[in-house]
Amino acid sequence: AKSGGRARIDVFDGNLRRQAMTTMRTEADLRAALELGQLCLYYQPIVSLRHGGIAGFEALMRWNHPERGLVPPNDFIPLAEESGLIVPMGRWALQEATRQLVAWQLLFPRPTPLFMSVNVSSRQFRDDDLVSVVRDLLNETGIPPSSLKLELTESLLMENPAKCRALMQSIRDMDVRLSIDDFGTGYSSLAYLHSFPVDTLKIDRTFVQAVSTGEGNAAIVHVISTLATILNMDAVAEGVETEQEAEYLRDIMCQYAQGYHFARPAPAETVERLLVAETER
Ligand code: C2E
Ligand code: CA
Ligand code: CA
Ligand code: CA
Repeated sequence: AKSGGRARIDVFDGNLRRQAMTTMRTEADLRAALELGQLCLYYQPIVSLRHGGIAGFEALMRWNHPERGLVPPNDFIPLAEESGLIVPMGRWALQEATRQLVAWQLLFPRPTPLFMSVNVSSRQFRDDDLVSVVRDLLNETGIPPSSLKLELTESLLMENPAKCRALMQSIRDMDVRLSIDDFGTGYSSLAYLHSFPVDTLKIDRTFVQAVSTGEGNAAIVHVISTLATILNMDAVAEGVETEQEAEYLRDIMCQYAQGYHFARPAPAETVERLLVAETER
């Protein structure tokens, strides 16, 4: 028994060491990625369900790794959050996405300007710099502030409600908009929701997909969409993959949708072709 325990410890140590080394390697890689410009943004259209046209975009980060190819965010965002690298990475994403937005707003003018929605992790949100980064960007680009949206997670609201509310308010004071991402999956209190300056609820795709799979409860989509209307917020249904889901969303008068059924996340050039096609239609 004694030697068995000993062996286990050795294996454990070995694993830990290996794990630490992999982490270090990737963390250094990630830092280099940011400096060498290996990070890029894909853009996924968000469509208006009223007229079916593109209303805006969500910016989604990708890592163009020299050996591993295009790495999806779920494979590196957790590491970025742990290491704090998410702060400079998130700042880069915010700048890159906003600069892309100016270009598209100039090329494709609309009565209501195209908008850009950018993910902000809780660590980045708590960073003291965020407000000044956003303010500088607005000054630099001159976009209508209301066409920039920051996507926050539900859990963030509950971590430190008072501080979070104050931070959200200083962003909202610049007329920049705030969305709650993956709404319905966290445990934010409904009684609290109205006390935060939130503009948009993004309905998590698990609820949207219940519409066609019959698993879970499709009515949840209706409830969240109605909740948004009552609270004077917009609703975006995420992960719409079928016409049946789109039809259901139109029936319940959900404003916006995002998903493979309309368009996949794609590089700026690809999205630009969609915008051109829409203009010529
Ligand atoms: P998210 O913010 O919930 O983004 C939506 C995810 O759903 C994206 O995955 C998108 O590609 C995917 N998606 C869109 N339509 C469909 C659909 O019809 N079906 C299915 N199955 N999936 C769909 P992606 O790009 O892999 O991003 C994953 C997550 O990584 C994001 O989830 C977000 O939490 C995080 N992330 C991405 N970019 C950033 C960023 O710049 N900063 C931060 N902090 N997080 C980011
Ligand atoms: Ca998001
Ligand atoms: Ca989401
Ligand atoms: Ca998510």
